[in-house]
Amino acid sequence: MKPSTQDIFSAMRVTPDAEKKKLIIKAYERAEAAHQDQKRASGEPYFNHVFATAMNLARFGYDAITISAGLLHDTIEDTPVTEKEIQQEFGDEIVFLVNGVTKLGTLKYQGRKRHTESLRKFFMATAKDYRVIVIKLADRLHNVQTLEHVKAEKQERIALETIEIYAPLAYRLGMGKLVGELQDAAFPFAYPKESQMVEELLKQKKKLNEKYLEKVWRQLKIELAEHGLENVETGQRVKGRYSLWRKLQRKHMDIEQIYDIVALRIIVDSVDECYRVLGIIHSKWRPLPGRIKDYIALPKVNGYQSIHTTIFTGDGGIAEIQIRTKSMHEYAEYGFAAHRLYKSAQLEEEQSDPYLRWLKGLEDLTPDDKDFLKKLKTDLFEDRIFVFTPAGDVVDLPKDASAIDFAYAIHSEIGNTAMSAMINGKNSALKTILKSGDIVDIQTNKKGVPSAKWLKFAKTSMARKHIEKHAEDGLIAKIFGK
Ligand code: MN
Repeated sequence: MKPSTQDIFSAMRVTPDAEKKKLIIKAYERAEAAHQDQKRASGEPYFNHVFATAMNLARFGYDAITISAGLLHDTIEDTPVTEKEIQQEFGDEIVFLVNGVTKLGTLKYQGRKRHTESLRKFFMATAKDYRVIVIKLADRLHNVQTLEHVKAEKQERIALETIEIYAPLAYRLGMGKLVGELQDAAFPFAYPKESQMVEELLKQKKKLNEKYLEKVWRQLKIELAEHGLENVETGQRVKGRYSLWRKLQRKHMDIEQIYDIVALRIIVDSVDECYRVLGIIHSKWRPLPGRIKDYIALPKVNGYQSIHTTIFTGDGGIAEIQIRTKSMHEYAEYGFAAHRLYKSAQLEEEQSDPYLRWLKGLEDLTPDDKDFLKKLKTDLFEDRIFVFTPAGDVVDLPKDASAIDFAYAIHSEIGNTAMSAMINGKNSALKTILKSGDIVDIQTNKKGVPSAKWLKFAKTSMARKHIEKHAEDGLIAKIFGK
């Protein structure tokens, strides 16, 4: 079947106007001509790859400019078409995006040092324009979905890279759907035996779980209608294979402890209705203790919101139910792009966006730093905790961060002059490890200075940078008697 621009238009989440269609058609024709003699490893025309990349971008809610850049993403690198030509024909924005993707692509994995450098380029390019990374992710998704055509020795590396680097980035962008697709395409190549095992388990368990959910849903529908909740959308979400495997590892490979292989999803109009639905569910079915998660009041670090609860179905089953509004659902599936599209992207909102703040923080990392990769991993990929200021503001820190990390996250001056911390109303030392939900108030002393000892428990690169700088300044002062 021949790809067509019509497929792109219908996949787009906001219907394109005539001008946008014209741009996409132009990029489509240019890319098709540029790649006309090239073939993929599978023997298909190369153009199919850039078309698939553009289709992914359309599905994820991206605009005509990004989709066009997706169509053109391999022209400068792989065809005689020059940067200047793309610039003249498509303008500065598209050439910037295509160039961004090209530069990321030319750095191949060559040992750890080069790898670190390529990661850095990756992030820096994104910090300028997040769409570069989204195109790269859309490109990677198609590459990993066609891995069976790649030489065996390359398969594992590409699959692992996808799971370790690309999927966490997609997660950071809040693109839940993309995370699952990347992981599940890579899983069989990264961990063949484990993937096989999960497939078997799923086969056994899925049917039974669906049966319990069916029954719950039939009863729940009646209850909701009785409470005047009729405009409710529902669906079943089947857990991704890779995500299921990760959870199995945490639960000592005991599938009986995993209740969300299939979950019931309930989508309503307002936050108020979310809590009403939760109330109705809990008054009819007994919830499992400790399994109610309110990510509406306390969103995940990537912005994910929903209420999760797990109930005893009454006939021996256990089922998970996820409740959210329509806009939360859009965000959970499509992330940042959807967020921008559906909230009409105001500048102020962007400035307070946790993702953009995270990107800004990357600029503090220096490329020559030999611990760059370690710092990056600590800051970006490890689990995060949420801590509160006394005023109720949320501060997002890496797991095992201490009160001094919190102090520096608030302001460098607070960090530099920190004396002790009040944690949940209790006087505590700066070295105290924080937990999600802690309320922290830092006590300062105007004459206080950072102590090199803090390095023993400072975890964030921001805190360490300030403390180290101070320690150096102190040493210089000592030597030169300043
Ligand atoms: Mn490509």
